[in-house]
Amino acid sequence: MAEKYTIGVDLGGTQVKAALSDDEGNFIAKLKERIDKDSAKAISDQIIRIARSLCSESGANSTDLKSIGIASTGPLDLRKGGLINPTNLPFKFVPLTKPISRELKIPTLLVNDCIAGVLGEKVFGAGKGLDNLVYITQGTGIGGGAIVDGHLLSGKDGNAVEIGHIVIDYMGRLKCGCGKRGHWEAYCSGRNIPNFVRMKLRGISKKKIRDSLLFKNVRGDFSKLSSEILFKSAKCGDDLSSELVEEIGRLNAVGFASVINAYDPSLITVGGSVALRNKKLVIGPIKKYVKDYTRNRTPRILITPLGEDVGIYGAIATVLKSET
Ligand SMILES: [Zn+2]
Repeated sequence: MAEKYTIGVDLGGTQVKAALSDDEGNFIAKLKERIDKDSAKAISDQIIRIARSLCSESGANSTDLKSIGIASTGPLDLRKGGLINPTNLPFKFVPLTKPISRELKIPTLLVNDCIAGVLGEKVFGAGKGLDNLVYITQGTGIGGGAIVDGHLLSGKDGNAVEIGHIVIDYMGRLKCGCGKRGHWEAYCSGRNIPNFVRMKLRGISKKKIRDSLLFKNVRGDFSKLSSEILFKSAKCGDDLSSELVEEIGRLNAVGFASVINAYDPSLITVGGSVALRNKKLVIGPIKKYVKDYTRNRTPRILITPLGEDVGIYGAIATVLKSET
């Protein structure tokens, strides 16, 4: 019998998600686990175990598998086939492709999760039939993938669309996780939104702060602030939180405008935990303000219809692309 199934894996900072899929992107079985952080080797062992569970759960044989694609947050070393100094894992190197393909005896492909995202969107999502599209993720960090004139952009080191590090503040008031200042991600990513809020609060009257629901929700201690608390307070109608969310949206619009001016897409889809959990509050202000900063014609901007599975779809799309 011919091999018919692909396994798509989305390796994030805390979770690994995977699905067994046919070539049309129909998931036969799906699994989600916390990443096993016991050792660097434990992660490839976990993916091998998940692949076998997906097969047994769906009655598939290991000989039915043709390949496995892994979309992962970086930084990646594609030559060695693993993660190098990953932000959320305490290891210098996490080997992936070699141990997995040796054990499962199928080709194993590794790809940057944002590059996978835009491919997944084009093959399975809102980007079908389009030659110019960008995928932007606003989660713990900010990243993107772009297809321009039908070409998937990569760059000399695979970092052509590191849009989270676009400079949106030349004064460089906030420092980014990469060590440089003024980057979009330093203001608007899930991890850094609290830094931005604390900076803005210095210019707001103490009375307004003390009267806010936000103040109550952090119990008067802004070192306890998270992006979840900010968006939750805004959804409850808190004025201060809503103003801060609007301001974050304006900064997002500055970032989106740079992307539009650089790549001229006809569609931008948006994923990542912050955007997926707060769809209206994230997309609304971007659409409202982006025209203030663009020169190019504004594209359609929408939340990815692939939702939380965009990484898995991207991993599968990467495998399919490698076969053509
Ligand atoms: Zn940066």
